[in-house]
Amino acid sequence: MQMKQLIMSKNCHAMLYIVVFMTMICYNNLVLAQKPSTNDANFYQASPAMMPRDTNAKRKPELVEVHKLDSTIKLDIYYASANKNVFGKKFYSEARAFLQKPAAEAFVRAHHAVKKHGYGLMITDAYRPWRVTKAFWEITPPEKREFVANPNDGSRHNRGCAVDVTLYELATGKEVEMPSKVDEMSERAYPTYMGGTEQSRKLRDLLKMALEAEGFKVIRNEWWHFDYKDWREYPILDVEFQDIK
Ligand SMILES: [Zn+2]
Repeated sequence: MQMKQLIMSKNCHAMLYIVVFMTMICYNNLVLAQKPSTNDANFYQASPAMMPRDTNAKRKPELVEVHKLDSTIKLDIYYASANKNVFGKKFYSEARAFLQKPAAEAFVRAHHAVKKHGYGLMITDAYRPWRVTKAFWEITPPEKREFVANPNDGSRHNRGCAVDVTLYELATGKEVEMPSKVDEMSERAYPTYMGGTEQSRKLRDLLKMALEAEGFKVIRNEWWHFDYKDWREYPILDVEFQDIK
């Protein structure tokens, strides 16, 4: 390499470092999400990306495993199995449900409330690592994206303050019929949908009443999704289940 070329090459490298450094400064509210390693062919991993950080979220995360607070709460974690969710892929290596401690305790109280009516709560998803929200966005067609969170904003699931939940019958242990399936991307998913059987609407409303009495709020287009009131105070997280202490 001639001297002139060498100097130009060094200048190019210097420019590249400056560009990278400036980019890091511009995105100082972002952190790089790492991909987990797996050999499972059905396991879907999002492409590597910068995770947004909410600088207003000041509360220290304290994720707790809901099932450990009350083992009669059922789990049917859709994203831990490729044949349970609408995407047909596996996103979690373990079927577990975590929430921030105050949300988890409120959830247990709601479970006790529905028990008085002969039902129990069944979680299909709770805390969700950010990389999984990114994966959902990548594989959802644009016209269906009202049903998935934009990874640029993070989701309330990423903060450990949202739960997807339905009811099961205490007597039989079976999941009840609701106006739509959990995760169904249609108008039947709206909590205000007036179709379906009267009994299914009654159970949907019982679920809503019990959770909203404990500080959760259902979202407008998914009867099964509830946000805990303090979600803004918790940061967006990308911790895998097995790494939660
Ligand atoms: Zn949800």
